[in-house]
Amino acid sequence: MSSKYLPASNPVKSFWLTAEVDFKDLRSTEELPAEADIVIVGSGYAGSTMAYYLMQEQFSGSMVMLEARDVCTGATARNGGHLKPSLYYSHKSWKHRYGEKGAAEIVNFEHAHLKAVKEIIEQEKIDCDFVLTRSCDVHLTKTAEQDCIDNYYDMMRNPYITCKHDTQILFGEAAKNISHVVDSNVCVTFTAGQLWPYKLMTSLLRKCLEKGLNLQTNTPVLGTEKRAGKWLVKTSRGTILAKKVVFATNAYTASVEPKFENKIVPIKGMCSHITPENRPAHLNNTYGIRYDGADQDYLINRPDGSVIVGGAKKHIFPFKNLFYNVVDDSTLVPGSERYFDGYMKRFHTWDTTKATTDYVWSGILGYTDDSFPYVGEMPHEEGKFVIAGFHGHGMPRVLLSSKALAKAVLGKDKNLAIPSAFKLSEQRLKQTNNRILQSLGTPEAKL
Ligand SMILES: Cc1cc2nc3c(=O)[nH]c(=O)nc-3n(C[C@H](O)[C@H](O)[C@H](O)COP(=O)(O)OP(=O)(O)OC[C@H]3O[C@@H](n4cnc5c(N)ncnc54)[C@H](O)[C@@H]3O)c2cc1C
Repeated sequence: MSSKYLPASNPVKSFWLTAEVDFKDLRSTEELPAEADIVIVGSGYAGSTMAYYLMQEQFSGSMVMLEARDVCTGATARNGGHLKPSLYYSHKSWKHRYGEKGAAEIVNFEHAHLKAVKEIIEQEKIDCDFVLTRSCDVHLTKTAEQDCIDNYYDMMRNPYITCKHDTQILFGEAAKNISHVVDSNVCVTFTAGQLWPYKLMTSLLRKCLEKGLNLQTNTPVLGTEKRAGKWLVKTSRGTILAKKVVFATNAYTASVEPKFENKIVPIKGMCSHITPENRPAHLNNTYGIRYDGADQDYLINRPDGSVIVGGAKKHIFPFKNLFYNVVDDSTLVPGSERYFDGYMKRFHTWDTTKATTDYVWSGILGYTDDSFPYVGEMPHEEGKFVIAGFHGHGMPRVLLSSKALAKAVLGKDKNLAIPSAFKLSEQRLKQTNNRILQSLGTPEAKL
């Protein structure tokens, strides 16, 4: 474990954090409990849903959640709010690595999140601006267009993908008119969602608190040690002896578990909130806006007429020292603010609209070499579980991973119902490749 991977203490405020949460710095008890049945480290999407599903499984023992900062202030409160399954764009590479069945497992699992997220929001009656919609991927370079076409038809040929009927490719005038993006010659549309993730997670956490969860905010975990068949969880405020511990620490996992150094790499990303002066026609879709390689932006059209735009990767990826292995979300990447100003002019319904970029923030994503998270029990370390490394794409991956892992934590179902590519295995842990910079197209060491 290394304190250099702990979350920064003074993160930039994101638009999502304007929602008031009255337990944001709660410590349920003044002192940490000396012992607990389960300790969850992290209160983001993974930690909150883990607590929720453990309780859904009728777990009635003691549960403590330890959070380094105020509640849920990591990536979950700093993201694009875009629940967008990856259905086709990576298909060829996933098929190459995992075969047709393996690729289909991932695509079908991500698509299943649309129903699962909608269901949990409706069942629990959570107000989080959720909208089920269609996303539109536009491709603004020749290479991106060709990648799109190749991957789309490759995905359509995969007999194991059950959700392919939900995707449509459009060309020429149809692509421009449907997307509202002037330069878009090819677009792909499919079902997606958008929401206020911080509201969803804190609402779930509120329900867990009502059922007895002990939440300890502003309590960084510094490491764990095996002690008499249990896990001694060491924090800045003392220790807790836990029967089981779950690391829901995403980009920061190396701060609690050294085996993840160089395996889950903290990557700094940028996002913004843009408000129009006179509300233009509502955009029909959310968006993925692709350029060459890993360069892409994403956009959601909020119900109040404002938009969230994230990406600005042109300003980030060339500069390794500014974003790679960086946990500091207290500053912005220089140049990214300018990038978001005027961004909306590319949509022909916004081209004459004056708009203000009123929030720009940074956040830390947990990238992995193979682009998949690590979910499961640590090999040879009974009672220690990990759900982390969502590679900047957690919204369509975390919920059902958490649901499956909760069952495994309780010993109810050790065969995790998640894609094989997500499973935490000895083989994945031993593997020492790290091609993250290469995949982002970053020259090794600029700046
Ligand atoms: C700018 C940005 C935009 C994004 N946009 C999207 C998007 O539109 N769609 C999408 O699918 N995904 C997006 N993502 C990714 C998505 O937000 C994440 O995959 C998801 O939120 C991960 O949830 P998590 O709970 O695993 O991590 P987090 O929300 O980061 O939660 C981890 C928590 O653990 C705590 N913690 C860490 N270490 C310790 C420790 N040692 N002790 C105590 N507490 C600790 C942290 O403080 C944090 O609260 C984006 C991410 C960023 C940063």
